[in-house]
Amino acid sequence: MGADMCGYIVKGPAKLPKNAVELAIKSLKAQRKRLIAGVRKCEVCGQDMAEGGTCSCGWPVIEKETTDYGISMLARNLVDAWAPTYRDCCSRKDPDDPKQIIVFAGDMSWGDDPEGSGYQYLKELINSGIGEVLGIR
Ligand SMILES: [Zn+2]
Repeated sequence: MGADMCGYIVKGPAKLPKNAVELAIKSLKAQRKRLIAGVRKCEVCGQDMAEGGTCSCGWPVIEKETTDYGISMLARNLVDAWAPTYRDCCSRKDPDDPKQIIVFAGDMSWGDDPEGSGYQYLKELINSGIGEVLGIR
């Protein structure tokens, strides 16, 4: 037994579009509508889940009670932090497309999620659905 590397590797645009925050807000509001309607399948990994629950992958990061203000703060924070430069992150330009970057964040783990800011950021970005909307996957 030993620790294993646990992390996220994503690829996305080096520079997000000017309307990224608006796109993210629109996406989160649509997601909130689906949560209110009663979602029983995780929108990130496809696992069945209890209505109103949270999937083991971490989706959703909002709740049906999340306010418009909460949604816009989350969208702004996630968009503003791209591309992440936390200490547990590294990135490089995509050799096949210089307009894209490849980002890794993670750490050695004995089973728990790594606590590093970069890992936590990418996890929230992916589980918010915002990554997909902005072409980060
Ligand atoms: Zn899931």
